[in-house]
Amino acid sequence: MASQYLITPGHPLSSMAIVVGSGAGGATVAKELAEAGHQVLLIEKGPRIAEEDAYRHYANVDAGVKLMRTCCLGGTTMVSAGNAMRCLEEDLRGLGIDLTREFSEAEQELGVQELPDELIGEGTRRLMDAASRLGLPVRKMPKFIDPGKCCMDGRCSFGCPVQARWNAVRFVEAAREHGAQVLTGRAVSAILARGGRVTGVRCGSKEYHDDLVVIAAGALETPRLLGSIGIQSAPLFCDTFASIGGVCPGIRFHQDVPMGAYVAQSSSLILTHYSRQLVAALRGAGHTVAEGDVLGMMVKIADEDTGRVGDTIEKGVTGTDALRLAEGSSVAGAILAEAGVDPSTFVTLPLRGSHPGGTARIGVSVDNRLVTPFSGLYACDASVLPATPGAPPILTIIALAKYAVKRM
Ligand SMILES: Cc1cc2nc3c(=O)[nH]c(=O)nc-3n(C[C@H](O)[C@H](O)[C@H](O)COP(=O)(O)OP(=O)(O)OC[C@H]3O[C@@H](n4cnc5c(N)ncnc54)[C@H](O)[C@@H]3O)c2cc1C
Repeated sequence: MASQYLITPGHPLSSMAIVVGSGAGGATVAKELAEAGHQVLLIEKGPRIAEEDAYRHYANVDAGVKLMRTCCLGGTTMVSAGNAMRCLEEDLRGLGIDLTREFSEAEQELGVQELPDELIGEGTRRLMDAASRLGLPVRKMPKFIDPGKCCMDGRCSFGCPVQARWNAVRFVEAAREHGAQVLTGRAVSAILARGGRVTGVRCGSKEYHDDLVVIAAGALETPRLLGSIGIQSAPLFCDTFASIGGVCPGIRFHQDVPMGAYVAQSSSLILTHYSRQLVAALRGAGHTVAEGDVLGMMVKIADEDTGRVGDTIEKGVTGTDALRLAEGSSVAGAILAEAGVDPSTFVTLPLRGSHPGGTARIGVSVDNRLVTPFSGLYACDASVLPATPGAPPILTIIALAKYAVKRM
């Protein structure tokens, strides 16, 4: 049975909106619309969770490359490393989208800054010094982490236990303070449209009607929802990454703030990076190591967008991807060796991708105001990114969402 939502006195019907998904894109849209006086219904598939439990809500997809995401209120921002880089600024400007103002707004709201030296652990410092000695341009990573709250337990990607790192639930709460309704544990199963206009969404047997709908269900779900009403999708990228590490007794790198520093290369981004899976791989290779005995790096590339989201999700590795990963890995290996890791102990992990995107991109599924061919229907998440960023995309997704809302 159809159910109209939200009739609150003082809000005209024409200023209502449905937002699907509460991650980087959806939470920003919900907040910006609510602050601008719209009545917002935010529908999220996953549950509301305690932040430190976020790791329980990984919903990774093994598509060849393992694609990482979390499904819960706040989406994948709940496990982010807090990395804040502007990316795709020029590509977007080429599409007529100037995000200068929105990037500044986002950086201010998220409190973006480099970590102070006292939050750079011994392992990160050692890798930074090693990279410098090799003549590589090493830099501290800008973060949306409050240095005053950070407890340096290295568990950002499990879920911050001390609320030091920004996540999208903060924007959901801001939207709620401005009157937004938030439904969790409800998956939107279809978009409703008639005569070229969006009319609402369906969640199982329930319908919610509105003529402004924003789909922000992430790059692995948004194209499926749009595709169900015939909107064309686009190829998938994911910023494929390799993790490489080796034995460094007593370094305690597992408690460093992850990805505290990076080296930008022409075909890859190389980051200081600890993974508990490196410990398992080293033990599997016969080394007796504790969690604190491993030093590692991540090699992240702007992969070729050859993946697809259909009935199944597929993402492989092209020859060019393999070359970029190999080039980056040789640099990462050199840094690790210079930092004191015995190269004979090096291990690598299966390839993963933590930035799936591009599947409903600008120029294919949406225009440069993020509107689909259906009037009133928008997409606004990593799926609209026009090209592979090869860098952390949250800041760009937030800036794009702000930009789009100003034009809705
Ligand atoms: C371990 C890890 C660390 C990362 N670290 C960083 C970092 O430091 N910096 C950075 O910039 N990026 C980082 N990323 C990437 C970043 O988190 C994502 O790129 C970003 O969150 C994508 O935003 P989104 O809005 O597209 O999707 P998401 O944030 O994934 O949000 C999508 C939401 O939609 C919901 N949803 C899905 N389907 C439906 C449906 N049918 N109905 C209703 N709701 C639905 C999902 O449950 C989810 O909550 C990291 C990713 C991972 C996996």
